[in-house]
Amino acid sequence: MRRFWRAIMKFEELNLAPAILQAVQEQGYDTPTPVQAQAIPIVLAGHDLLAGAQTGTGKTAAFMLPILHKLSLAEAGRNKFGGKAIRALVLTPTRELAAQIQESAKDYGKYLSLQSTVVFGGVGMKPQVDRVKRGVDVLVATPGRLLDLQGQGLLDLSSIEILVLDEADRMLDMGFIPDIEKIFNLTPFTRQTLFFSATMPPAIQTFAQLCLTDPLSIEIARSSIPTSVTHAFYPVAMDQRDELLLELLKQTDYHSVMIFTRTRKEADQLTSLIKSTGQPKVAAMHSDINQVDRMKALAGFKAGDYEILVAT
Ligand code: AMP
Repeated sequence: MRRFWRAIMKFEELNLAPAILQAVQEQGYDTPTPVQAQAIPIVLAGHDLLAGAQTGTGKTAAFMLPILHKLSLAEAGRNKFGGKAIRALVLTPTRELAAQIQESAKDYGKYLSLQSTVVFGGVGMKPQVDRVKRGVDVLVATPGRLLDLQGQGLLDLSSIEILVLDEADRMLDMGFIPDIEKIFNLTPFTRQTLFFSATMPPAIQTFAQLCLTDPLSIEIARSSIPTSVTHAFYPVAMDQRDELLLELLKQTDYHSVMIFTRTRKEADQLTSLIKSTGQPKVAAMHSDINQVDRMKALAGFKAGDYEILVAT
Protein backbone atom coordinates (compact mmCIF):
# COMPACT_ATOMS: atom_id res chain seq x y z
CA MET A 1 0.00 0.00 0.00
CA ARG A 2 2.75 2.38 0.99
CA ARG A 3 4.67 1.61 -2.19
CA PHE A 4 1.61 2.13 -4.34
CA TRP A 5 0.94 5.46 -2.70
CA ARG A 6 4.51 6.50 -3.38
CA ALA A 7 4.31 5.45 -6.99
CA ILE A 8 1.30 7.64 -7.69
CA MET A 9 2.41 10.56 -5.53
CA LYS A 10 2.38 13.90 -7.29
CA PHE A 11 4.81 16.80 -7.07
CA GLU A 12 1.94 18.95 -5.78
CA GLU A 13 1.80 16.79 -2.63
CA LEU A 14 5.37 17.64 -1.67
CA ASN A 15 4.65 21.15 -0.36
CA LEU A 16 7.08 22.87 -2.68
CA ALA A 17 6.61 26.51 -3.68
CA PRO A 18 4.38 27.02 -6.75
CA ALA A 19 7.32 28.68 -8.54
CA ILE A 20 9.30 25.45 -8.15
CA LEU A 21 6.40 23.25 -9.25
CA GLN A 22 6.03 25.38 -12.35
CA ALA A 23 9.71 24.94 -13.23
CA VAL A 24 9.53 21.19 -12.55
CA GLN A 25 6.52 20.89 -14.81
CA GLU A 26 8.39 22.72 -17.56
CA GLN A 27 11.16 20.18 -17.24
CA GLY A 28 8.57 17.61 -18.22
CA TYR A 29 8.61 15.81 -14.88
CA ASP A 30 5.29 14.22 -14.16
CA THR A 31 5.71 12.29 -10.93
CA PRO A 32 8.54 12.37 -8.37
CA THR A 33 11.03 9.53 -8.64
CA PRO A 34 11.35 7.28 -5.53
CA VAL A 35 14.39 9.17 -4.22
CA GLN A 36 12.54 12.47 -4.65
CA ALA A 37 9.35 11.21 -2.99
CA GLN A 38 11.38 10.04 0.00
CA ALA A 39 14.09 12.66 0.32
CA ILE A 40 12.14 15.87 -0.30
CA PRO A 41 9.93 15.65 2.84
CA ILE A 42 12.98 14.75 4.95
CA VAL A 43 14.99 17.71 3.72
CA LEU A 44 12.06 20.11 4.06
CA ALA A 45 11.60 18.95 7.65
CA GLY A 46 15.20 19.92 8.36
CA HIS A 47 16.69 16.47 9.01
CA ASP A 48 20.14 15.31 8.05
CA LEU A 49 19.98 12.65 5.37
CA LEU A 50 22.01 9.64 4.34
CA ALA A 51 20.78 8.55 0.90
CA GLY A 52 21.90 5.54 -1.08
CA ALA A 53 21.11 6.56 -4.65
CA GLN A 54 23.05 6.48 -7.87
CA THR A 55 23.07 8.83 -10.85
CA GLY A 56 19.97 8.45 -13.00
CA THR A 57 17.56 8.11 -10.07
CA GLY A 58 16.68 11.80 -10.03
CA LYS A 59 18.83 12.49 -6.97
CA THR A 60 19.83 15.99 -8.06
CA ALA A 61 16.25 17.23 -7.88
CA ALA A 62 15.82 15.23 -4.66
CA PHE A 63 18.16 17.63 -2.87
CA MET A 64 17.97 20.72 -5.09
CA LEU A 65 14.19 21.21 -5.02
CA PRO A 66 13.83 21.28 -1.22
CA ILE A 67 17.00 23.38 -0.90
CA LEU A 68 15.63 26.01 -3.29
CA HIS A 69 12.31 25.92 -1.45
CA LYS A 70 13.94 26.51 1.93
CA LEU A 71 16.20 29.27 0.64
CA SER A 72 13.27 31.02 -1.01
CA LEU A 73 11.59 31.40 2.39
CA ALA A 74 14.29 33.58 3.97
CA GLU A 75 16.59 36.45 3.12
CA ALA A 76 20.29 35.84 2.62
CA GLY A 77 22.90 37.55 4.77
CA ARG A 78 25.77 39.51 3.21
CA ASN A 79 29.32 38.50 2.40
CA LYS A 80 32.23 40.81 3.15
CA PHE A 81 32.10 42.19 -0.39
CA GLY A 82 28.47 43.25 0.01
CA GLY A 83 26.95 40.44 -2.08
CA LYS A 84 24.65 37.66 -0.86
CA ALA A 85 26.29 35.21 1.52
CA ILE A 86 26.38 31.56 0.37
CA ARG A 87 23.67 29.51 2.09
CA ALA A 88 23.82 26.14 0.32
CA LEU A 89 26.95 24.31 -0.76
CA VAL A 90 26.98 21.21 -2.97
CA LEU A 91 30.26 19.30 -3.18
CA THR A 92 30.83 16.95 -6.09
CA PRO A 93 33.82 14.88 -7.21
CA THR A 94 33.99 16.04 -10.85
CA ARG A 95 33.74 19.23 -12.86
CA GLU A 96 31.18 17.75 -15.24
CA LEU A 97 28.89 16.78 -12.42
CA ALA A 98 29.33 20.17 -10.75
CA ALA A 99 28.39 21.96 -13.98
CA GLN A 100 25.40 19.66 -14.48
CA ILE A 101 24.11 20.23 -10.94
CA GLN A 102 24.34 23.98 -11.29
CA GLU A 103 22.42 23.78 -14.57
CA SER A 104 19.70 21.93 -12.66
CA ALA A 105 19.72 24.59 -9.94
CA LYS A 106 19.18 27.23 -12.63
CA ASP A 107 16.40 25.24 -14.31
CA TYR A 108 14.52 24.42 -11.12
CA GLY A 109 15.00 27.92 -9.70
CA LYS A 110 14.17 29.90 -12.83
CA TYR A 111 11.09 31.49 -11.21
CA LEU A 112 12.80 32.25 -7.90
CA SER A 113 15.11 35.15 -7.17
CA LEU A 114 17.93 32.87 -6.09
CA GLN A 115 21.37 32.80 -7.64
CA SER A 116 23.78 29.94 -8.06
CA THR A 117 27.22 29.42 -9.49
CA VAL A 118 29.80 26.71 -9.90
CA VAL A 119 33.52 26.67 -9.07
CA PHE A 120 35.98 24.00 -10.19
CA GLY A 121 39.60 23.75 -11.16
CA GLY A 122 41.18 23.72 -14.60
CA VAL A 123 39.68 27.01 -15.70
CA GLY A 124 40.44 30.64 -14.83
CA MET A 125 39.66 31.71 -11.27
CA LYS A 126 38.73 35.31 -11.88
CA PRO A 127 35.23 34.90 -13.34
CA GLN A 128 34.38 32.42 -10.58
CA VAL A 129 35.68 34.76 -7.88
CA ASP A 130 33.83 37.75 -9.30
CA ARG A 131 30.59 35.79 -9.39
CA VAL A 132 30.94 34.57 -5.80
CA LYS A 133 31.78 38.07 -4.60
CA ARG A 134 28.67 39.49 -6.27
CA GLY A 135 26.75 36.96 -4.19
CA VAL A 136 25.10 33.57 -4.72
CA ASP A 137 22.65 31.56 -2.66
CA VAL A 138 23.80 28.17 -3.94
CA LEU A 139 27.40 27.24 -4.67
CA VAL A 140 28.27 23.99 -6.44
CA ALA A 141 31.95 23.10 -6.19
CA THR A 142 34.67 20.53 -6.47
CA PRO A 143 36.70 20.39 -3.23
CA GLY A 144 40.13 21.51 -4.49
CA ARG A 145 39.15 24.79 -6.10
CA LEU A 146 36.79 25.58 -3.25
CA LEU A 147 39.55 25.27 -0.65
CA ASP A 148 41.87 27.26 -2.87
CA LEU A 149 39.43 30.19 -3.05
CA GLN A 150 38.63 29.92 0.64
CA GLY A 151 42.34 29.91 1.52
CA GLN A 152 42.78 33.15 -0.39
CA GLY A 153 39.98 34.74 1.60
CA LEU A 154 37.79 35.03 -1.50
CA LEU A 155 34.86 33.12 -0.14
CA ASP A 156 33.39 32.50 3.26
CA LEU A 157 31.71 29.24 4.25
CA SER A 158 30.56 30.35 7.69
CA SER A 159 27.11 31.28 6.34
CA ILE A 160 26.35 27.77 5.01
CA GLU A 161 22.98 26.45 6.18
CA ILE A 162 22.74 23.32 4.02
CA LEU A 163 25.64 21.21 2.82
CA VAL A 164 25.32 18.41 0.26
CA LEU A 165 27.96 15.80 -0.37
CA ASP A 166 27.14 14.22 -3.71
CA GLU A 167 28.65 10.91 -4.86
CA ALA A 168 30.41 10.49 -1.54
CA ASP A 169 31.80 7.08 -2.52
CA ARG A 170 33.50 8.55 -5.58
CA MET A 171 34.91 11.34 -3.42
CA LEU A 172 36.42 8.66 -1.22
CA ASP A 173 37.89 6.78 -4.20
CA MET A 174 39.40 9.98 -5.54
CA GLY A 175 41.07 10.78 -2.21
CA PHE A 176 38.96 13.85 -1.46
CA ILE A 177 37.99 12.94 2.10
CA PRO A 178 40.70 15.05 3.85
CA ASP A 179 39.66 18.07 1.75
CA ILE A 180 36.04 17.46 2.56
CA GLU A 181 36.80 17.24 6.26
CA LYS A 182 38.49 20.64 6.02
CA ILE A 183 35.50 22.09 4.21
CA PHE A 184 33.05 20.65 6.74
CA ASN A 185 35.06 22.26 9.53
CA LEU A 186 34.74 25.65 7.84
CA THR A 187 30.95 25.46 7.92
CA PRO A 188 28.74 25.96 11.02
CA PHE A 189 28.03 22.77 12.96
CA THR A 190 24.37 23.81 13.06
CA ARG A 191 24.12 23.23 9.29
CA GLN A 192 21.81 20.63 7.73
CA THR A 193 23.88 17.97 5.99
CA LEU A 194 22.83 15.67 3.15
CA PHE A 195 24.92 12.72 2.03
CA PHE A 196 24.35 10.99 -1.30
CA SER A 197 26.28 7.90 -2.28
CA ALA A 198 25.68 5.14 -4.84
CA THR A 199 27.33 2.59 -2.57
CA MET A 200 27.80 2.55 1.21
CA PRO A 201 31.23 1.06 1.94
CA PRO A 202 32.23 1.01 5.64
CA ALA A 203 34.50 4.05 5.20
CA ILE A 204 31.55 6.10 3.95
CA GLN A 205 29.36 4.93 6.80
CA THR A 206 32.01 5.90 9.34
CA PHE A 207 32.54 9.26 7.68
CA ALA A 208 28.79 9.87 7.52
CA GLN A 209 28.51 9.17 11.23
CA LEU A 210 31.07 11.89 11.89
CA CYS A 211 29.39 14.49 9.68
CA LEU A 212 25.69 13.84 10.14
CA THR A 213 23.50 14.49 13.17
CA ASP A 214 20.66 11.99 13.77
CA PRO A 215 20.32 11.36 10.03
CA LEU A 216 17.39 9.62 8.39
CA SER A 217 18.47 6.99 5.88
CA ILE A 218 16.92 6.08 2.57
CA GLU A 219 18.04 3.48 0.08
CA ILE A 220 16.96 3.51 -3.53
CA ALA A 221 17.17 0.26 -5.45
CA ARG A 222 19.59 0.23 -8.33
CA SER A 223 17.80 0.71 -11.60
CA SER A 224 19.10 0.75 -15.12
CA ILE A 225 15.94 2.31 -16.54
CA PRO A 226 16.26 6.04 -17.19
CA THR A 227 13.48 8.14 -15.69
CA SER A 228 12.75 9.52 -19.16
CA VAL A 229 11.37 6.15 -20.34
CA THR A 230 7.64 5.54 -20.07
CA HIS A 231 6.21 2.05 -19.96
CA ALA A 232 3.04 0.58 -21.37
CA PHE A 233 1.67 -2.92 -21.15
CA TYR A 234 -0.88 -4.27 -23.62
CA PRO A 235 -2.61 -7.54 -22.75
CA VAL A 236 -3.25 -8.97 -26.22
CA ALA A 237 -4.22 -12.30 -27.80
CA MET A 238 -1.43 -14.18 -29.59
CA ASP A 239 -2.96 -13.83 -33.02
CA GLN A 240 -3.37 -10.06 -32.63
CA ARG A 241 0.17 -9.27 -31.58
CA ASP A 242 1.51 -8.46 -35.06
CA GLU A 243 -1.46 -6.30 -35.86
CA LEU A 244 -1.09 -4.36 -32.61
CA LEU A 245 2.63 -3.89 -33.15
CA LEU A 246 2.15 -2.59 -36.68
CA GLU A 247 -0.54 -0.23 -35.44
CA LEU A 248 1.72 1.08 -32.65
CA LEU A 249 4.50 1.67 -35.15
CA LYS A 250 2.08 3.48 -37.43
CA GLN A 251 0.92 5.76 -34.62
CA THR A 252 4.39 6.51 -33.27
CA ASP A 253 6.78 9.09 -34.62
CA TYR A 254 9.82 6.91 -34.03
CA HIS A 255 13.47 7.05 -35.03
CA SER A 256 14.88 4.23 -33.01
CA VAL A 257 12.85 1.18 -32.01
CA MET A 258 14.08 -2.11 -30.58
CA ILE A 259 11.75 -5.08 -30.68
CA PHE A 260 12.51 -8.26 -28.79
CA THR A 261 11.13 -11.64 -29.75
CA ARG A 262 11.36 -15.00 -28.03
CA THR A 263 12.73 -16.96 -30.98
CA ARG A 264 15.02 -16.35 -33.96
CA LYS A 265 12.26 -17.46 -36.30
CA GLU A 266 9.87 -14.89 -34.86
CA ALA A 267 12.53 -12.20 -35.26
CA ASP A 268 12.95 -13.04 -38.97
CA GLN A 269 9.20 -13.24 -39.56
CA LEU A 270 8.57 -9.92 -37.86
CA THR A 271 11.39 -8.28 -39.80
CA SER A 272 9.83 -9.45 -43.10
CA LEU A 273 6.40 -8.35 -41.97
CA ILE A 274 7.60 -4.84 -41.10
CA LYS A 275 9.45 -4.60 -44.43
CA SER A 276 6.27 -5.60 -46.23
CA THR A 277 4.51 -2.54 -44.78
CA GLY A 278 6.91 -0.27 -46.65
CA GLN A 279 9.48 0.26 -43.90
CA PRO A 280 12.83 -0.76 -45.39
CA LYS A 281 14.93 0.49 -42.46
CA VAL A 282 14.57 -2.64 -40.36
CA ALA A 283 17.19 -5.23 -39.46
CA ALA A 284 17.11 -8.50 -37.55
CA MET A 285 19.72 -9.56 -35.04
CA HIS A 286 20.08 -13.03 -33.52
CA SER A 287 22.54 -15.87 -33.25
CA ASP A 288 21.75 -17.41 -36.66
CA ILE A 289 23.08 -14.25 -38.27
CA ASN A 290 26.87 -14.17 -38.56
CA GLN A 291 28.91 -11.86 -36.37
CA VAL A 292 29.85 -9.45 -39.18
CA ASP A 293 26.23 -8.98 -40.18
CA ARG A 294 25.18 -8.65 -36.56
CA MET A 295 27.72 -5.91 -36.04
CA LYS A 296 26.55 -4.24 -39.25
CA ALA A 297 22.97 -4.37 -38.00
CA LEU A 298 23.90 -2.84 -34.67
CA ALA A 299 26.15 -0.16 -36.19
CA GLY A 300 23.44 0.64 -38.74
CA PHE A 301 20.87 0.93 -35.95
CA LYS A 302 23.10 3.29 -33.97
CA ALA A 303 23.78 5.39 -37.07
CA GLY A 304 20.09 5.62 -37.90
CA ASP A 305 20.34 3.62 -41.16
CA TYR A 306 17.97 1.18 -39.51
CA GLU A 307 15.12 2.65 -37.49
CA ILE A 308 13.98 -0.72 -36.18
CA LEU A 309 16.04 -3.56 -34.81
CA VAL A 310 14.29 -6.87 -34.18
CA ALA A 311 16.32 -9.05 -31.87
CA THR A 312 16.18 -12.07 -29.65
P1 AMP B 1 19.98 12.53 -11.78
O1 AMP B 1 19.88 11.19 -11.12
O2 AMP B 1 19.76 13.65 -10.83
O3 AMP B 1 21.25 12.67 -12.58
O4 AMP B 1 18.77 12.64 -12.84
C1 AMP B 1 18.66 11.79 -13.94
C2 AMP B 1 17.73 12.34 -15.01
O5 AMP B 1 16.38 12.23 -14.61
C3 AMP B 1 17.94 13.80 -15.36
O6 AMP B 1 17.99 13.91 -16.76
C4 AMP B 1 16.72 14.51 -14.83
O7 AMP B 1 16.38 15.62 -15.62
C5 AMP B 1 15.66 13.44 -14.90
N1 AMP B 1 14.62 13.55 -13.85
C6 AMP B 1 14.79 13.90 -12.57
N2 AMP B 1 13.62 13.84 -11.90
C7 AMP B 1 12.68 13.45 -12.77
C8 AMP B 1 11.27 13.19 -12.67
N3 AMP B 1 10.62 13.32 -11.53
N4 AMP B 1 10.64 12.78 -13.78
C9 AMP B 1 11.29 12.63 -14.94
N5 AMP B 1 12.61 12.85 -15.11
C10 AMP B 1 13.31 13.25 -14.03
